[in-house]
Amino acid sequence: MLRTIALLGVGCVAMAFVAGQPEPNLPKPQYRFEPTDPQWLRQAVQFHGHLGPWAAAGVRAGMAGLAAVEAKGYFDIEVQAFGPLAKPPRSCFLDGLQVGTGATWGKRNISFAEAEALSVRITNTRTGKTAQLRPTAKLIDLLTSIKPKSLSEETDDHSDDHDDPLETMARKIAAMPQSELFVVEIVQSQQ
Ligand SMILES: [Zn+2]
Repeated sequence: MLRTIALLGVGCVAMAFVAGQPEPNLPKPQYRFEPTDPQWLRQAVQFHGHLGPWAAAGVRAGMAGLAAVEAKGYFDIEVQAFGPLAKPPRSCFLDGLQVGTGATWGKRNISFAEAEALSVRITNTRTGKTAQLRPTAKLIDLLTSIKPKSLSEETDDHSDDHDDPLETMARKIAAMPQSELFVVEIVQSQQ
């Protein structure tokens, strides 16, 4: 009897050893991948968790702002976002903006203040060059045409084969020419 218990004990230890710890892994986003999706969009989805129009618009804003002030991103920028962005899905824009600029909540070089109109101010901290981005009426129309119902459908059910309206809209925003998305203005030139 004692021997059986001892063997069982050894067996359990052996099984635990074989099973080991699960490999560390990043969370799996809710995302219907398409081969035509650009690499940057996939990376944004990995960060944000799903492919949504507000997040896609945020990434595009970030990339446009970086280019406008000729910054590399991550460490040579200060990003300020303004707008009615307190809650999802609108606040998803702020995740996109972090991906698009490399300015992050953790590095404390991105901030957000509630305002009536959406705008982004981005400064190259090496040169002082500062750009302000405002969404075009076309982009605002696209973003505000999203019905809350389609958002709840999106988050509740991912088994459907039909196209997800949020992903379709996000891909459209991802592919639009920059001039149709934002008005970019240099508000302070290089020092
Ligand atoms: Zn989102």
